[in-house]
Amino acid sequence: MWLLPRTHFSSSSSSSSSSSSGSLCHALGIFSFLLFAVALFATPSAASRGDRLPEFKDCVQGCNERNCLYERTPLPLHLRILLWNCPSECDYACQRSVTTSRVANGQSIEQFHGKWPFKRLWGIQEPFSVLFSVLNGYVHYVGLKSLKRELPYSYPLYRYYRIFSIFGIFCWLWSTVFHMRDFVFTERMDYFAAGANVLYGLYLAPIRIFRLYKPTYARILRIWGMVCIAAYIAHVYFLLGVRWDYTYNMAANVVVGSITNILWTYWSVRHYTRLKSFWAAWPGLIVMWLIMAMSLELLDFPPIAGALDAHSLWHAATILPGLWWYKFLIVDARKDVGSVVPLQRLKA
Ligand SMILES: [Zn+2]
Repeated sequence: MWLLPRTHFSSSSSSSSSSSSGSLCHALGIFSFLLFAVALFATPSAASRGDRLPEFKDCVQGCNERNCLYERTPLPLHLRILLWNCPSECDYACQRSVTTSRVANGQSIEQFHGKWPFKRLWGIQEPFSVLFSVLNGYVHYVGLKSLKRELPYSYPLYRYYRIFSIFGIFCWLWSTVFHMRDFVFTERMDYFAAGANVLYGLYLAPIRIFRLYKPTYARILRIWGMVCIAAYIAHVYFLLGVRWDYTYNMAANVVVGSITNILWTYWSVRHYTRLKSFWAAWPGLIVMWLIMAMSLELLDFPPIAGALDAHSLWHAATILPGLWWYKFLIVDARKDVGSVVPLQRLKA
């Protein structure tokens, strides 16, 4: 019998700062300089004020002794499927118990193991971040289908855009898994998928902007591709083989994403000035939207109703720009296509 309210979170989970970890994860390839300052000064740590509280330590110890040491209290199936076990259940239950009691006494809500104490849902640790990650992934899925429907196979950028969608789906899939259950493995996969997504965004930008897909630039394109692959291998090697460093990881993603931002803003300004067409301004506006969305990450407040935190709001704020981005790719291709492939070969 569980002697504590059944609530949240595993003490064995990996630690990361609540907002910074996610901020890496899930960008659509676009980050802001705004977070650069955070990247430089953020120092995520395994321990938080919450897990140093005496009442929390006593609670976990008592719960473990009662439920885990001799006669193990069985956990419901849905929790076991999501890899909850007796000690992690105790940890979560104690977080909820201590938090509820602190709120009732007018005390502050504290973080535990580097994260806010979320109320889980069906064993899912951060339900809103999971929901919004799924929606973000769905945007790429829908985008991929619309690329297939709207662009001719002969359009030179078609295959690059398709790969962009696949990187996006992969990234958000791991974001979903990570927010369902935060383990070292899921965190690593989330970060690596995000890193690949952000880097692919940078790889793609000059291919469209400077038309590196043209045969004239074949050599440059090959070198550019090798530079990007080498950078990614070095990035993963550093994190896995040298040091797992949250600050470096975030800084690397922010730098890569910011260069992508600058490239697309440059494209937008140049083309809008020339064409005076609103769609040419879209990439620049999308960049601005995402920069504003990223500022949500600076608001590191305790989750509203134990569920809705700044990071999940950031996830939510990146859904519409994703749709908008695919819209841009298609409009741009349609405008572009007459000069690149015969217009009659464009579908629909
Ligand atoms: Zn996230």
